[in-house]
Amino acid sequence: MRSVRNPPDSSRGRFNLSPAVTTTEDDRLRKIVNHLQESGHRITPQRYSILKVLVESREHPSAEAIYRELGTIFPTMSLATVYKTLALLKQEGEVLELGFSDLGNRYDGNKPYPHPHVICTDCGAVVDPPQFDLEKITREIIRATGFTIMTHRLDFYGLCPACQEKSQHFAPTTDKQGST
Ligand SMILES: [Zn+2]
Ligand SMILES: [Zn+2]
Repeated sequence: MRSVRNPPDSSRGRFNLSPAVTTTEDDRLRKIVNHLQESGHRITPQRYSILKVLVESREHPSAEAIYRELGTIFPTMSLATVYKTLALLKQEGEVLELGFSDLGNRYDGNKPYPHPHVICTDCGAVVDPPQFDLEKITREIIRATGFTIMTHRLDFYGLCPACQEKSQHFAPTTDKQGST
């Protein structure tokens, strides 16, 4: 039986199901830069800043959020530049793209492999829960279905602590308001 630790083959196994050892932001940034340079891509100052924002953010930013954050440093940078850099990172397996029907695409530059997320349905916060063992579940799924597993997606939806507090403060005082 195929082990979860060995994705089918490296050309298709863009997603590494086994999380790498946790690295610091600097290490992670250096690793991405080296990888891009080794595959023949130029690291322009704009591109470097996009990588830095991605790696330093724990908030799974959207392309627009990255663009806004860098707007003051690079007033002439276009949103297309951010999208192109994200597309390149995706192609090189250095970013995890999360598509949401209501939140658009969000990006994780720290953990470019599949991992669970906790999502606030009110403010759109996307958070990484503490690491827990998905390998056992994956092995069980492989055993029970006979599938080979390439990737997975596990999302938990709810209200973040800030939005829970907000909803307590601004709870509707009456539902009769406006009705006669
Ligand atoms: Zn929230
Ligand atoms: Zn994440």
